[in-house]
Amino acid sequence: MSAADFDLAVIGSGPAGLAAAALAASRGLSTVLLDEQPEAGGQIYRAITDTPVRDRRVLGPDYWRGAELLGPLRDSGAVHWPGSTVWSVARPRDEDAAAAAGTSERTLQIGLSRDGAASMLTVRHVLMATGALERPFPIPGWTLPGVLGAGAAQILLKTSGLAPSGRVALAGTGPLLWLLAWQYLRAGVALDVILDTTPRANWRAALPLLPGFLRSPYLGKGAKLLLDVRRKVKVVDNVTALRAVGEGQLAAVVYRRGDEEERSLAADTLLLHHGVVPNLNLANATGCAQQWDEGQRCWRPTTDDWGATSVEGVSLAGDGAGIGGAVAAEQAGRIAALDILRRLGRIDRAERDAAAIPHREGLERALRGRAFLDTLYRPSAAFRVPADDTIVCRCEEITAGAVREAVRLGCSGPNQAKSFLRCGMGPCQGRLCGPTVTEVIAAERGVSPAEVGYYRLRPPVKPITLAELAALPKTEADVNAVQKH
Ligand SMILES: Cc1cc2nc3c(=O)[nH]c(=O)nc-3n(C[C@H](O)[C@H](O)[C@H](O)COP(=O)(O)OP(=O)(O)OC[C@H]3O[C@@H](n4cnc5c(N)ncnc54)[C@H](O)[C@@H]3O)c2cc1C
Repeated sequence: MSAADFDLAVIGSGPAGLAAAALAASRGLSTVLLDEQPEAGGQIYRAITDTPVRDRRVLGPDYWRGAELLGPLRDSGAVHWPGSTVWSVARPRDEDAAAAAGTSERTLQIGLSRDGAASMLTVRHVLMATGALERPFPIPGWTLPGVLGAGAAQILLKTSGLAPSGRVALAGTGPLLWLLAWQYLRAGVALDVILDTTPRANWRAALPLLPGFLRSPYLGKGAKLLLDVRRKVKVVDNVTALRAVGEGQLAAVVYRRGDEEERSLAADTLLLHHGVVPNLNLANATGCAQQWDEGQRCWRPTTDDWGATSVEGVSLAGDGAGIGGAVAAEQAGRIAALDILRRLGRIDRAERDAAAIPHREGLERALRGRAFLDTLYRPSAAFRVPADDTIVCRCEEITAGAVREAVRLGCSGPNQAKSFLRCGMGPCQGRLCGPTVTEVIAAERGVSPAEVGYYRLRPPVKPITLAELAALPKTEADVNAVQKH
């Protein structure tokens, strides 16, 4: 069994991964930073090194702050492998052979694809900083061309400077929706309307949490951003129903405000968003325990205060461990890196605890106001548990009604629903239907999502070609041969 290629592999080069890799490498761990994207940055700082949007006022100061994380990474000696898609993390099958070979060290093997070739990497510890995904927002017509996620649209803006033209409607709730509207306005993009689905009741529910928000970094910039957008764009509040309509292409958005009459609005582009959820596929397929988070209404991997998961040798930091935002992700990345240094014997517990103090303070500050935002922007049940005719699994075109029917036939959870319906078995591996299928089953059974559970995922968590799999080295000799090239 080969010795480890690296002490630490960090998967994800967003704020959590960048900060963790820089700290771990600067303190002597041989560290590789892997990310499927062509360059570092993650979601928030996507394309920070070469975005075509050069006018800094458009993406705003929070975006450009990401550049400050690149220097420490460069200087740390960490190896950065952009364009690396990780599709599995597991104990080497022949771990016992390793013990027999006199290397009693526990290692992990990472399956990754890079430049169309698959390879296996052996490391002593893995930090998953895989971030967040947009929460699925299934409405009738969401699969029509012309309808996409606001986060996806923001990716087009950051990476290619692309923005929608014609009649543009934004719909949903959550900070990212307003941020994108603000960025578009700064880029000179005309927006026709924002259909705000934030339930009125959420304001009442969030009120008790206001004090924390008033002491948070979100207050000033959030309020200014909202006022800016509301001054320039028509906003329809309290939207309780939404449909995208059109023959083969989006033509209009039909919406209802409160319990008023339905109204229709011609539109060429509809950008949907109602929050982000942890990207848990890799952690789930690696066997990390996960739990239902009622506050954020989503599943997330279970971690301790240092980011350690239930799988030995696997830590997790950033939005992949629960939504906290970019600054919290950065601090959590550093805290996890310090614990990994202790686990790999580079520092002792006392040194770890002392070094973590400023990062814990930074994390506490960054998380102030989070509970207020989570409560205020919690999507309504109507948009989390769609009507029968709405497609919930886009890969297999399974409707909410079919899931309900399966429950009435005895299906009790998402994994059974897979065999009943094939939902969650397509190329996205449940990324676009997992949260919805759990909520639809829970509502139909009248139990909590915690009781229903989530898909049990297996590698590969990202599509890889059979040719890549077949080309994977088979023997020790092969391994050594491949790593030399
Ligand atoms: C589409 C989108 C846009 C967002 N835009 C903003 C914004 O503009 N401002 C803001 O404040 N917040 C934004 N957020 C919220 C964002 O989650 C956090 O602000 C922050 O980026 C979280 O940092 P992180 O380090 O935890 O993960 P992320 O920044 O999400 O980085 C995770 C990285 O891991 C990579 N990755 C995931 N799985 C794999 C794998 N299997 N193999 C290889 N690489 C993998 C991803 O491609 C990504 O680059 C956005 C979220 C989303 C989903």
